[in-house]
Amino acid sequence: MEDVGYPNDPARVRLIPGAAGAVRELAAAGFVPAVVSNQSGLARGLIIPAQAAAVHERFVALFAAESGVRLPCYYCPHGPGDGCGCRKPRPGLLERAAADLGLAARGAVMVGDKPSDAAAGRAFGARTVLLAIGGIPPRDSPADHVASDWADACRWVCERAVSRVEGGDGSD
Ligand SMILES: [Zn+2]
Repeated sequence: MEDVGYPNDPARVRLIPGAAGAVRELAAAGFVPAVVSNQSGLARGLIIPAQAAAVHERFVALFAAESGVRLPCYYCPHGPGDGCGCRKPRPGLLERAAADLGLAARGAVMVGDKPSDAAAGRAFGARTVLLAIGGIPPRDSPADHVASDWADACRWVCERAVSRVEGGDGSD
């Protein structure tokens, strides 16, 4: 969804253009999508749990209506000083999602619009795509690919998925 700072109002939930189509295409290609999100507004007292739940429900419903995909979502409610293992750039949320969904880091791709997203993906062991929609990414971006939009991200991921199959099982 579009970045609105600390999301506390379901009426302000907007999908990023191209996101639903890209995830639908990736799901059709065999990827299992999941959302991992820092929500430190909860720890900061800027969002109450009922607001977070309402925003979550609105987001999942909008996304399902546009993509046909009902996204499992994982949230870190902690603040930067809490020392938790789930706040990106730490990989805890990705590990939880992978355990729940029966997925492995190998073959996984983390797509995000912040360097901390790419860092979390890398810490998890996934390949990483940084969406350059929130401004120009840093030159020393930790991502494997910097995508101009969701369509670009989808293309890059699908090309790698094909080459991975063609390349055989490998030993990485
Ligand atoms: Zn956390």
